[in-house]
Amino acid sequence: MARRKSKLFINNVDGFSALSLDVLCEIFSSLLPRDLLHLARTNKALRSFVLNRSNSMIWKAAFANNALAKGPPGCPPYMSEPAWAHVAFDNFCEGCQEKLREDPNVDTVWWEFGGRYCSDCVPTLMTIDIPAKLKRLYPADTIPERVLPRIGRDAPGQFRWYNLVSDQTKLLQQLSATRSAARRREITLKRTQETALIQQHSMRCRYWAASKIDDYQDDIMRRKQAKANKEGDLLRAKAEQVAKRLRARGWGDEDWMVNGMLARHLQYYPGFENSKSSTARLSREFDDRLVARLTADRKKYLQQEGGSDNA
Ligand SMILES: [Zn+2]
Repeated sequence: MARRKSKLFINNVDGFSALSLDVLCEIFSSLLPRDLLHLARTNKALRSFVLNRSNSMIWKAAFANNALAKGPPGCPPYMSEPAWAHVAFDNFCEGCQEKLREDPNVDTVWWEFGGRYCSDCVPTLMTIDIPAKLKRLYPADTIPERVLPRIGRDAPGQFRWYNLVSDQTKLLQQLSATRSAARRREITLKRTQETALIQQHSMRCRYWAASKIDDYQDDIMRRKQAKANKEGDLLRAKAEQVAKRLRARGWGDEDWMVNGMLARHLQYYPGFENSKSSTARLSREFDDRLVARLTADRKKYLQQEGGSDNA
């Protein structure tokens, strides 16, 4: 296959002059969007290189790699790739820029609002009301709830729809700036169409996030199960080993034991699992204690049997 001509735009980027264009292309085509975000924050030169619109191919490559890695849905048509990478991968509050805690059990992105918001900023940046003065500027046949992106959340006691205050403020300014009803209709319709795209794409993102959480929780369960299985195997092996030593001392499977089996019965003795019998002397002492318990249990069983016979 003919090698595609490299088309990176480089402008005095630190250190890059030592690398050939082909090598640079090779490096950049293997990165993920998150890597590019980090690079863009490394220094000014890298930032201008990564964010240069002429180099959008490195973002296209990064999002193609992201798709292969089953990352979040690709860039929506209403955003640039770097802006979308910020929404999907950055982890700080859009309001106060505070770094947020990562929790693989929770989808923390307010996808429709393009980012994450801390609990302090939510009450000031979001609203559950659509202002009357905004509604008055909408054409009469408008469904006010459909004009701007919104997110439904379970608030204490009830389910609520949230809007971004900044979305409302901006639209209010745009609509107030014109006296033409036709122009207001045009603005409202355009915003409603943009919102429909945002809601659609955000829905895909939410499904992706939910399935990622499911995968994470399934993985945790599998690990727990594997650990439990391994521990169970170890415990059974240990019980077999001890039972073998006790058989040499005259013990065997008896009806009154758990499942009628000595090895099974031993596993239920408190401390059996964690006991260490690393030396011959410790093993012997350990076995002596088990024999004492078995003897006591057998005696108790026989007494109960005798008691019930008498009843
Ligand atoms: Zn905040």
